[in-house]
Amino acid sequence: MLKEIFVKSAMTYEYPPDGGTVPIIDPYDGCTIGCPYCFQLEDETWNTDLNVKVNISDVLQKELIQWNKEDTVYLGSKCDPYMEIERKYQLTRKCLLELSKLNLKCMVTTKAGSKLIFRDIDVIKPMGNKFTLLLGLSNLQQLSEIDDYTLMSNIQTANQLHRMGITVWVFITPILPGITDIDSMISAIDQDIPVFLDKVRLKRNTRPALRLESFIGNHYPHLIKTYKDIIYNNKDVYYEDIKEKWGKTERVKFVFESSNSTD
Ligand code: SF4
Repeated sequence: MLKEIFVKSAMTYEYPPDGGTVPIIDPYDGCTIGCPYCFQLEDETWNTDLNVKVNISDVLQKELIQWNKEDTVYLGSKCDPYMEIERKYQLTRKCLLELSKLNLKCMVTTKAGSKLIFRDIDVIKPMGNKFTLLLGLSNLQQLSEIDDYTLMSNIQTANQLHRMGITVWVFITPILPGITDIDSMISAIDQDIPVFLDKVRLKRNTRPALRLESFIGNHYPHLIKTYKDIIYNNKDVYYEDIKEKWGKTERVKFVFESSNSTD
């Protein structure tokens, strides 16, 4: 159920296993993109409602007064900041406006596939190198609809923004054997854009692992053995091949090698 809520704090913090503290702004709590591998699903209470933090930008404005300008803020962890609902509420845009006023560094993560980010070009472009878009390509809805990756909405967005001078990093995380054709995807992405890759990292019997297994069984039944091997035996032949092939290419980076979850 959609709920409009009022929050007392705008910034939340995540503590990755490698140490450190990651400041996050989630204008929404809940996500409509529906990635079955989403690590947020480990929290059974997450996404039971779609919470819209209607006052978040006002709260953020006050919190940013004390903000250390050297710290990067991440926008989007428990939501996709550019999912459809943003068209109506414009909370991502309002938060970006607050960050841009103070010239703060921010990274926005999305795999929504809408072109909604172009609405905010007037805010993003003046932010210059303070703004980075982390664009995810493992959007199963998009992947199921496309054979020619040059036509994939998120790849087109990456290339268009890059050509407009916006810093874009592309993430194929996770690589989905039998679904993501990495060679074709990398070829379709402009040569100067860094591409980050990672394998499926899901702990067996967790909600995301069970959800991905069920999704593959329903939509790609011929791949079920491959995914069971990945989830239950930690065996991912395709990923090893990709590492072998792309491991020495400078713009292709392999991430989260020590992590156990995937986003
Ligand atoms: S991985 Fe990101 S886009 Fe996908 S459901 Fe989770 S929060 Fe939404």
